[in-house]
Formats: sequence, structure tokens, C-alpha cells
Amino acid sequence: MGRRKKANKPPPKRKAIVPLDTLFNCPFCNHEKSCEVKLDRTRNTGMITCNVCLEDFQTSINYLSEAVDVYSDWIDACEAANQ
Ligand SMILES: [Zn+2]
Repeated sequence: MGRRKKANKPPPKRKAIVPLDTLFNCPFCNHEKSCEVKLDRTRNTGMITCNVCLEDFQTSINYLSEAVDVYSDWIDACEAANQ
């Protein structure tokens, strides 16, 4: 009594690759989506620069880091500096 093979469900297809959001609001000049994150995976460095007021920030990243992690590090650093 051979069990019937379960119908193979097609593997969930990944949606078309959506570029990760790398533009964030600037905590300095308050422009929206003016801060661009760059992840330098070879140097484990994340950089963020505001295209409007040119504030920038660098932090170390790991292979799991995403643009938003660099941004939140920046916000944390800003808050720490403001205390
Ligand atoms: Zn700015």
C-alpha cells in the first residue's frame, strides 16, 4: 500500500526583490528620506549621510545588519549626545 505522494506544493516564491529602504528621515534637519545608508560589507562599516544637511555617521555592522540598523544606531548616538 504505497502512500500517495503528497502533491508538491510549489515553494513560496519570493516576491520580486524589493530594494530595501535605505532612505530615512534626518534627525538634524528633519527632511524626510534625505539620509542615505551605505553598507560596506567588506569593512563591516555602515555609513549614513544626509543629502540635505550633510550630517553623517558611521558605525560598525555585521553580516546581519541592515540599513535600518545603521539608522537606529545614529538616532541612539544623537540621543546620547543630547543628554
Ligand atoms: Zn539632514
